[in-house]
Amino acid sequence: MLKPHHREAHHSLIYQPLHEQLAAAGIRLQVRHKRVKNINFRLKPNLLAVSAPSKLSSQKVAAAITQRLEWVLTQHPKIVAAHHSRDQYQRSETVRLWGKEQSITMEEAQRLEWYRQELSQVMPSLFAKWQPIVGQWASEQRIKKMSTRWGSCNVKARRVWLSVYLPAFPIDCTEYVIVHELCHLHHANHSPDFWQAVAKVMPDYRYWHDMLAGKATASQRPANID
Ligand SMILES: [Zn+2]
Repeated sequence: MLKPHHREAHHSLIYQPLHEQLAAAGIRLQVRHKRVKNINFRLKPNLLAVSAPSKLSSQKVAAAITQRLEWVLTQHPKIVAAHHSRDQYQRSETVRLWGKEQSITMEEAQRLEWYRQELSQVMPSLFAKWQPIVGQWASEQRIKKMSTRWGSCNVKARRVWLSVYLPAFPIDCTEYVIVHELCHLHHANHSPDFWQAVAKVMPDYRYWHDMLAGKATASQRPANID
């Protein structure tokens, strides 16, 4: 119901002290007189919904709420906490590391922190491996929380950024992105010459490229390799 019940408005003065006590605990009080036999209490995060028989006087309803007040104030923090942890559980998902499913679930922030650590551990050796093969050197390598790209290259500054989401995939995908970005130092575009340079040093690049593109979902991971 969008509009408050007319009786609720009429008797608001009787409930005023209760409204104030509950508001102090972050709880909104909603009283509705309905065709019910008994007074029903429903406690939700930040809401105490009370339905009372239509014929019951507001004084009696207010007295019943007052009797329950201590219970409400003790239970409310628990209900809020349970609601929060359920939300967080639903938001967490099974984590993949370097393409392998791990037997743990994590929240996004935790997962990204882990990915950042893993990626920063392998990055130096991967760049050391591929730079001489590609024949280009990056002056700076960084991990970024990029949600629309797997990697990027600032050609002028010779700065290569990798997406923190990469460790979800086999490490070959990260190697491909490094090769891709380093090849942009040869060709700052996606011309046939550029792709030829990529294929020359990584003949199976297409497989890893497609894996990154195919598994990407708009909400979770970047879809583009820049
Ligand atoms: Zn590119």
